[in-house]
Amino acid sequence: MNTTSCFQRNAEKVASHRCDVTEHRWVNERYKYLRLKADADLAGVTRPGQFYQLKCPPIDDLQPFLLRPMSVYGVGPEAGTIEFLYSVNGLGTTAMATLAVGRHMDIVGPLGNTFVLEPGFKRIMVVARGVGLATMAPLLQHAAKAGIKITAIMSARAPQDLMREEFLRGVEADVHCLYDSDGSSSVASVESLVRELLGTESHDVVYTCGSHRLLMLLQHVLKDFPQTRGEVAMEQRMACGMGVCLSCVRLFNHEGEKQFLRVCREGPVFSIRNVVGEVEFG
Ligand SMILES: Cc1cc2nc3c(=O)[nH]c(=O)nc-3n(C[C@H](O)[C@H](O)[C@H](O)COP(=O)(O)OP(=O)(O)OC[C@H]3O[C@@H](n4cnc5c(N)ncnc54)[C@H](O)[C@@H]3O)c2cc1C
Repeated sequence: MNTTSCFQRNAEKVASHRCDVTEHRWVNERYKYLRLKADADLAGVTRPGQFYQLKCPPIDDLQPFLLRPMSVYGVGPEAGTIEFLYSVNGLGTTAMATLAVGRHMDIVGPLGNTFVLEPGFKRIMVVARGVGLATMAPLLQHAAKAGIKITAIMSARAPQDLMREEFLRGVEADVHCLYDSDGSSSVASVESLVRELLGTESHDVVYTCGSHRLLMLLQHVLKDFPQTRGEVAMEQRMACGMGVCLSCVRLFNHEGEKQFLRVCREGPVFSIRNVVGEVEFG
């Protein structure tokens, strides 16, 4: 099977890996890039949209107890290499940010299902903001390799926060950049841009990640574009990451009824149309 055809919907090779930190640097004021090397073939078993649970080191006599979920930002070219792009927020990620090159980090995965990218797709749209860039970057790489055209809508607080190069990583795309600082990322502006782009050219699927506001907006817009699929990688607070603790359940429309599903196990990727939201548009 070629790597771009129907990715596996569920993780099949979950394992714990002790990795070496081979690169760790700031990308901007909030985000760090982390490159790890394991003895196992992580590149071969990891698909776009999946995530790993990362064990953070102790900091100031505190040991972050739970592992932290992080999407895979990239894999390869060596079989054991895996990359993450993360924002430094609370205790766990602050501790993670102190890891020096040459130290070890334990990770568990790959976890969760994957985005679906079919070889027959002609053009896809990705709508990304903040940490969602990390989750969707591998999707762009696979789409580009398969000759699928890409429309990318990126939004950020200001131009210096955008991380355009980190997202595209050399992939060619029709890129639209929107900012909070000039108002171009407002709900109304994003909605009118998405409608214009979907109305001008047919897109097989729209992908997004993380932002609840973007998710609800796309769910609303896609009602008028029934031929376009929608997928979202949900970012939900979680503890075990393996479907046991049930802390990450959310309500979805599933097989004709409303059901609570585990974001870590049945997700994190879901159909945009199936998410039961809290915000009503229109
Ligand atoms: C599937 C998935 C993929 C993710 N991918 C990325 C990524 O690629 N890059 C990135 O920067 N962030 C990502 N996140 C968010 C990241 O997990 C949180 O920012 C991180 O756990 C915060 O930990 P902390 O200790 O710094 O914050 P704290 O607030 O101190 O964390 C306290 C607890 O809450 C949990 N928690 C806090 N915020 C989140 C959150 N947004 N999602 C889930 N659990 C949270 C932590 O795991 C921890 O158990 C992802 C989250 C999920 C669920």
